[in-house]
Amino acid sequence: MKFEKVYRYINPNKYIDIFSQPQWYLEMQPELKEFFYDYDGIRDNKSKKWLDTRSEYVTMVCELLENDRISLADSGRNWDNDRLPIDTIVIHHSSTPPDTAIEVINALGLIRLYAPFYSQKENQEFGQPVWSNHRYKNRQTFIAYHYIVREDGTFEHILQDSHIGWHCGSWNYNCRSIAICFLDDLKKAPPTRKALQTAKKIIRKYPHCKIFGHREIKPSTLCPGNLFLGNEGWRNILL
Ligand SMILES: [Zn+2]
Repeated sequence: MKFEKVYRYINPNKYIDIFSQPQWYLEMQPELKEFFYDYDGIRDNKSKKWLDTRSEYVTMVCELLENDRISLADSGRNWDNDRLPIDTIVIHHSSTPPDTAIEVINALGLIRLYAPFYSQKENQEFGQPVWSNHRYKNRQTFIAYHYIVREDGTFEHILQDSHIGWHCGSWNYNCRSIAICFLDDLKKAPPTRKALQTAKKIIRKYPHCKIFGHREIKPSTLCPGNLFLGNEGWRNILL
């Protein structure tokens, strides 16, 4: 296959064979660990070269997925068997620029959620080919969110209500919740007014749900930013 994008720091051709093997995520452990598992999302602590290299890995995974060059399972477990009645909405931000393509969110889901899950020896699926029973636009999707809201107020409806999103680090909350993600970096700024209006409309479809920010469920994350909570927090706009 021919890569369309320009790569400066990595040689994507080196990885084609690796990704064609069912255990690609085990072969890729060093890269995945350095650039994804151990990265806390704080850009200021990283050099431009490091950040560019990371983004090239993401672009490569997007291109490989697009060309069906990543080995995935054809069938597997129905992860949604554990679905519980929905009583919670969890708010996230993507922590990426607002013009980030949905394909990038998908690639990040594969790398940051599914790859580490399949890499853990204690899981029954360790070493198996990766499988998601969630589909979006006729392909397996690794996106963990039910809704992705853009800053211009448009949104993508990715997962169905019957799907369990792998989004908040707690399987119990995943089973009971709907995940809404703002496609934006909200560490230092609230979502746009249009994005908030759209999120509010989505939330109205689930009138009996409690609303949590991701960090209220998983204290080690900053998601969805510092301005969500408190008396002045933008959570209040969503209620
Ligand atoms: Zn989050």
